[in-house]
Amino acid sequence: MHIIPLPAFRDNYIWLIRDGRHAVVVDPGDAAPVLDYLAREGLQLAAILVTHHHADHVGGLGTLLSHAPVPVHGPFNERIDGVDHPVAEGDTVRIDALDLEFDVLDVPAHTAGHIAYVSRGTPPRALFCGDTLFSAGCGRLFEGSARQLADALARFAALPDDTLVYCTHEYTLSNLAFARAAEPHNPERDAYVERCQALRAANRPTLPSTIGQEKAINPFLRSDQAQIRDVLAGHSGVWPADAIECLAALRAWKDTF
Ligand code: ZN
Ligand code: FE
Repeated sequence: MHIIPLPAFRDNYIWLIRDGRHAVVVDPGDAAPVLDYLAREGLQLAAILVTHHHADHVGGLGTLLSHAPVPVHGPFNERIDGVDHPVAEGDTVRIDALDLEFDVLDVPAHTAGHIAYVSRGTPPRALFCGDTLFSAGCGRLFEGSARQLADALARFAALPDDTLVYCTHEYTLSNLAFARAAEPHNPERDAYVERCQALRAANRPTLPSTIGQEKAINPFLRSDQAQIRDVLAGHSGVWPADAIECLAALRAWKDTF
């Protein structure tokens, strides 16, 4: 599977999966970068995957569909103009033109109907997680609860460590600044900061990450760590009672960091 980042807006990536003839795009917030790439490479759009209803993920659907009326897979529990294949937990998305299959996960948190896609077939898997998980961070809780976020993150953490994580935003360096505050001592994270700084200095994406990498450095996947609980207690003056409270406190702190 050949996967290309198409930068959009200020810090979005539209992920494009291609072979020599066909392409699939994930969360096309803008049509222009997709149409430019398809024209330049002589590719035909075969399908579109959508993770949630926010404009920076669906804004390009109308224009893309007027160029190529392809199937659009998207969350069953959200109303999105252009989505004609609503999918939910347990569904499989099959794209014949590229011989691809994806399992659908329900991961409500950032939005109430947010879904994620995990590729099947030859490892490593590719996870398209929208705005649920970012490298070194996670999405804001606009419509969901900390408990739902904990469930979503647990689903991701249970995937094989070599799973490639295709997030939709280049937030990694700013997330890492927060990760440093939340978990001051983490040498593996410090090494990751250096690698990501070098990538950004060369104007290259820090993504995809991997599940194994995120388990080692992402405070939102590490809220069971005593060090993070100590820091949170010091920051808020309250000792988080359980993993959910800990995650809620981390997310609330990050919202104002
Ligand atoms: Zn969003
Ligand atoms: Fe977004």
